Amino acid sequence: MYRILITDDLSPEGLAILKAAPDVQYDVVKRPPRQELLGRVHDYDAVIVRSSTPLDAGVFTAAPHLRVVGRAGVGLDGIDVPAATHHGTLIMNTPEANTLAAVEATLALMFALCRRVPQAYASLRAGAWERSKFLGVQLSGKVLGVIGLGRIGSRVATRCQALGMEVVAYDPYISEEVAERLRVELVAELDELLARSDVITVHMPLTEETRGMLSEAQFARMKNGVRLVNCARGAIVDEKALYRALVSGKVAGAALDVFSEEPPHSETLRALLALDTVVATPHIGASTIEAQQDASVQIVQGVLAALRGEGYPHAVNLPFANGADYQALLPYLRLAEKVGSLQMQLVRGRVGRVEVDVRGEEIATQVKAITVALLKGLLEPILKETVNYVNAPALAAERGIAVAQVHGEESEDYPNLISCRVVSTQETRLVAGSLFSRARPRIVQIDEYPMDVQPVGNVLIIASRDVPGVMGRIGTILGNHDLNIAEWRLGRTAPGEMELSFINMDSPVPDDVIREIAASGTVMDVRQVAL
Ligand code: NAD
Repeated sequence: MYRILITDDLSPEGLAILKAAPDVQYDVVKRPPRQELLGRVHDYDAVIVRSSTPLDAGVFTAAPHLRVVGRAGVGLDGIDVPAATHHGTLIMNTPEANTLAAVEATLALMFALCRRVPQAYASLRAGAWERSKFLGVQLSGKVLGVIGLGRIGSRVATRCQALGMEVVAYDPYISEEVAERLRVELVAELDELLARSDVITVHMPLTEETRGMLSEAQFARMKNGVRLVNCARGAIVDEKALYRALVSGKVAGAALDVFSEEPPHSETLRALLALDTVVATPHIGASTIEAQQDASVQIVQGVLAALRGEGYPHAVNLPFANGADYQALLPYLRLAEKVGSLQMQLVRGRVGRVEVDVRGEEIATQVKAITVALLKGLLEPILKETVNYVNAPALAAERGIAVAQVHGEESEDYPNLISCRVVSTQETRLVAGSLFSRARPRIVQIDEYPMDVQPVGNVLIIASRDVPGVMGRIGTILGNHDLNIAEWRLGRTAPGEMELSFINMDSPVPDDVIREIAASGTVMDVRQVAL
């Protein structure tokens, strides 16, 4: 049973999914004070929050089983993501749930700005009938400048094209192909967009680079009478500079849903909001019934998928890119875990360096993910469930394990190959695995021994001299103790030299039996591993 704590309002659609899940038990405790949360969180595998529940490092410390935090929404302001990562807790959000809401809010603001709807409405409510005062401007035929052509910006662009606008965009991080597909002209310099646009709308995140990106100098480069819409983040626009540009008439009007300070109390913001040329809403871009429902449903589905190990949609702290091809990648991740686990159980001494070599068309682009899985497998025998895909690289680094990705020759024998060389204070060992038919994991090499073995269950790995009678002697000892062999595979370097037995057992082999095998002559080394 997965235990999930919900600390904010979640729509009935999201709760219904949890109710119907046979493997879930959930509790709703709305907005618990910090002390109460610290007391409760101990028992839960997952917590689902909205923006009103801060999750600091103390909460993670108090929650030994917490594996997933789901944020129904986008912002992670109150969540200590580094602390969660160190703790091994996956953080996921729903960045797409409010995309259409924000797109439509942008369009609503754009129309309201160009036709002065709020001002006209206020005038009418006040008893006036001022038709000539509210002469608007048309969007059709105008140039729209979209800064940030991501989820929201691209959809605003296509909708505005349908209105008859010409769209130019500035986004240094998207490809020309994306713009071509959208039939949007991508300009290389922001200045060009500023000089050509009649209406400018911003849709990028607030970053060090975008903070104050539209300031005095940029306003100066804009067309006279330009209109500005900001439905992204307030601090992208230098509000003081905007105020001056509005007062001077350089900017004919601005429509704002977001502010550098929310609620907007500062003198600058109050002055800005008092201007007749400003249309504003209190950060309601995401506030539609559909967006709230979608956020709830998506976060519940995401948290369940993560708990069940089926996928990690919109995880923000996975150390590798998390795409829709997770299902195809999963068997390779499992194989990498087996390779890592086998390495750790075989190697003697303290591990100082891990070299990972990933070959094969299907996984060539997934080296990072496979390395993370391998590290997880490597650390699991010593850290058990503490380690996961989220914290494996950090835990390896903490232990002083250097990780290198190396690239050797393409393999002719196998369509894909995951090899791992481990260097410890005592020895260097190599384990390589391959996935057959995209489904069957195999270990194909241990040190210098070629193999073809299944990495499952309890396994005896025995190094011995390649002389007649070894299998008979070991088999007799196991049989005398009523221990059944499931599969026995041999790899050898050359006839008469050394051989390695990989014996899948039906049950664990007791220590005294292992000692008996070790003492049976010609056997150099006996190891038992659990895979
Ligand atoms: P997104 O990540 O899909 O797109 C952002 C785009 O901005 C990306 O294509 C990125 O390449 C681009 N970008 C980054 N830095 C840039 C720069 N320096 N210059 C130009 N482009 C740059 O994000 P999204 O989901 O489309 O959200 C866009 C913005 O809208 C975010 O700031 C988000 O917080 C905000 N938002 C606001 C509301 C609201 O309630 N008003 C709701 C949802 C989203």
